[in-house]
Amino acid sequence: MLETKEQYKQLGISEEVYAFGEKIEQKLKERFQKVDEVAEFNQLKVIQAMQERRVSEACFNYASGYGYNDLGRDTLEEVYASVFHTEASLVRPQITCGTHALALALSANLRPGDELLSPAGKPYDTLEEVIGIRESKGSLAEYGISYRQVDLLPNGTFDYEKIEKAITEKTKLVTIQRSKGYQTRPSFSVTQIGELISFVKKIKPDVICMVDNCYGEFVETIEPSDVGADMVVGSLIKNPGGGLAPIGGYIAGKNECIENCAYRLTSPGLGKEVGASLGVMQSFYQGLFLSPTVVSGALKGAIFAANIYEQLGFPVIPNGSESRHDIIQAVEFGTPEGVIAFCQGIQAAAPVDSYVTPEPWAMPGYDSDVIMAAGAFVQGSSIELSADGPIKPPYAVYFQGGLTWTHAKLGILMSLEKLVQAGLVKLS
Ligand SMILES: *Cc1c(COP(=O)(O)O)cnc(C)c1O
Repeated sequence: MLETKEQYKQLGISEEVYAFGEKIEQKLKERFQKVDEVAEFNQLKVIQAMQERRVSEACFNYASGYGYNDLGRDTLEEVYASVFHTEASLVRPQITCGTHALALALSANLRPGDELLSPAGKPYDTLEEVIGIRESKGSLAEYGISYRQVDLLPNGTFDYEKIEKAITEKTKLVTIQRSKGYQTRPSFSVTQIGELISFVKKIKPDVICMVDNCYGEFVETIEPSDVGADMVVGSLIKNPGGGLAPIGGYIAGKNECIENCAYRLTSPGLGKEVGASLGVMQSFYQGLFLSPTVVSGALKGAIFAANIYEQLGFPVIPNGSESRHDIIQAVEFGTPEGVIAFCQGIQAAAPVDSYVTPEPWAMPGYDSDVIMAAGAFVQGSSIELSADGPIKPPYAVYFQGGLTWTHAKLGILMSLEKLVQAGLVKLS
């Protein structure tokens, strides 16, 4: 379509970059159809949960103060429990982000003397301070909770032999991160996570298995809670907020675990009964409703980016053809300049703040400078088109999101345009 090509040109995409992108997209039709099929299934799952829990207009009412009998909040927690097939859930604007949700789930269910085990290698950067791997005020370590970690085997799979040895009488909770986060290991499929949980439970049936589900929601037709996880934890400014939730986190799981979380979030004795939803409920419901489709757009963007940069010879994780278990795409540029040019392209394609130029900075919770590109409607939202990269070897950029596939496509083409302009990539 000539007009579309002209429109891209006006936005700053050269003819050669556009043509390169079109050639790649043509080859992805079948992949994209599979992504749409998963979205269709998950959309139906969400609608069914909302119908069964009798979501009504009254659920969107403003609740303030203590928030006793907040219908919208309580019904939404039933909807989440239904979607994740769990006994209960906690879905709150008072859970400020993913790290907070994870810290809450851990600190609520661990007691002094207990041990936390990560059988899948190093957890997400910000959890290092939560756990106390890096010294930090208020860490689990300060409360006498010890930590043990079993690294993945060189091929990225679980080291079952060492995991078996690491499970002791002290082991109370096992944490498994579905997505790669800021690492270059593969992300785990829900099936793989299920196998690991079965293994752990066979050795110690009463151990709590928690999954950091960030970026994984609705990528597959099943969730970790369908394969034995006692708690799944995530952020509402990622997948399940559908781009509309302005804040929030969720924990879905066993009654006992969720009760512990509620007492820790508010107060012993109060638990789930308090915590007014302050008018955010419509966005939480509507965001969850849109989430399966939004996630499908983000996935298409990730697949498109993988195929573009793979074609250009950069290591990409996952690669252009392998199956997807989260919405993150890593591209290794090998130089800080590559990471910076990529992020500046993503920023330049944004609907918001497209005129600002992102630069690396020392962000709290991370151990190196990080560059972040996000022209988002919700600050820091990473279900919206965003990219970030720690400025350290292997100089990989982690790219995710896009509320629509077309925006993701523009962002990726713009990133390529910036790399071409910086002389870091040659297309012919
Ligand atoms: C984003 C993320 C977190 C932390 O979430 P924040 O909302 O950034 O605090 C934790 N784990 C994984 C795997 C993530 O992707």
